[in-house]
Amino acid sequence: MSEQATIKTDVVIVGAGPCGLFQVFELGLLGLKSEVVDSITQAGGQCAELYPDKPIYDIPAIPVCTGLELTQNLLKQISPFGAGMHLGQEVTELILQDDGQFVLRTHLDQEFHAKAVVIAGGVGSFQPRRIRVADADEYEGKTLHYRVRNPEQFSGKRLIICGGGDSALDWAIELAGIVEHLTVIHRTDQYRAVDASVAKLRALAAAGTVDLLENTKLDSLQGVNGELEKVRVKRADGDIEAIQTDHMMVFFGLAPKLGPIADWGLELERKTLPVDTENFETSVPGVYAVGDINTYPGKKKLILSGFHEAALAAFAIKQRIEPNKKVRVQYTTTSPLMHERLGLKEDDE
Ligand SMILES: Cc1cc2nc3c(=O)[nH]c(=O)nc-3n(C[C@H](O)[C@H](O)[C@H](O)COP(=O)(O)OP(=O)(O)OC[C@H]3O[C@@H](n4cnc5c(N)ncnc54)[C@H](O)[C@@H]3O)c2cc1C
Repeated sequence: MSEQATIKTDVVIVGAGPCGLFQVFELGLLGLKSEVVDSITQAGGQCAELYPDKPIYDIPAIPVCTGLELTQNLLKQISPFGAGMHLGQEVTELILQDDGQFVLRTHLDQEFHAKAVVIAGGVGSFQPRRIRVADADEYEGKTLHYRVRNPEQFSGKRLIICGGGDSALDWAIELAGIVEHLTVIHRTDQYRAVDASVAKLRALAAAGTVDLLENTKLDSLQGVNGELEKVRVKRADGDIEAIQTDHMMVFFGLAPKLGPIADWGLELERKTLPVDTENFETSVPGVYAVGDINTYPGKKKLILSGFHEAALAAFAIKQRIEPNKKVRVQYTTTSPLMHERLGLKEDDE
């Protein structure tokens, strides 16, 4: 049983990539409320996760912007609609109810009740990259961690942190003071984290608070019943060293995986969801798909295609929810109703 109250809304959007975010806008203009869920802890999907600093040149009327700027602008654009953002939660279940509505659940047991669902899951749910070491599964979730839920559990323990990005360094800096012993292992001496964090880590190493092992790779794990005892590592010179530890945290970045979407009874075509291009509905009425996750003749995996798809899906959803009303196109330039929904005051108009 879920301990958190069920959230009732018009539409749940699975995925907070650019297309999921713009979906909030298009639904909002039509007066529909939405909740957005994403398995990663930030909005922006591939733009924020894979290329935050890279320039994008093919967003209409924006000659150039980075992945991060596009995300920030979309978040600003959708802010009038007050969509609930549930980041760091993977949608694991989608169940069609007898009344044609939907129940969705996340891995943290948050439940949603929605009249329609838009899947904007891109190339899938970003998952932590696992280590490729024999028997690693035995330790996962017990003493081998890819996500941190409860940092206090490491208090007074011996801990190894693997990785050279922001997550690895942020946790190393935060936990250095509370663990009994901390070792940071990185396969090179070049970091993908911000310079200030690298400087801090090096200062902790120089002070003897952290054992910093650069140019070092994982070799094997040793322990009993999921309890780690030793981690064997291979140094640059080929020497093998065993480090005693109670826990190990691994931050090797995230990679997309279609994940639970494949289990929701929707027709699939090579890991994508076929849709009707009139309304972007999937094989299940009431479930729509926009952005990289969908497929149809001529599909191009571009952000601007996803924006168009989101507009048409929003009109279809409005019609589904209010079947007896004609859904008209109104211009944001001139429509008082659109202005009201956008939260504009008369002075802004
Ligand atoms: C390096 C690179 C450069 C690119 N440059 C351009 C460019 O210049 N122009 C352009 O148009 N496109 C570009 N693209 C492609 C563009 O980024 C994608 O088309 C776009 O991100 C698709 O957006 P989306 O919202 O459909 O999906 P995504 O951005 O993939 O976001 C999907 C989100 O859904 C989440 N998700 C999936 N399943 C679940 C679940 N079960 N529960 C919760 N969350 C879930 C994922 O975690 C993810 O955050 C580029 C891509 C890359 C990799």
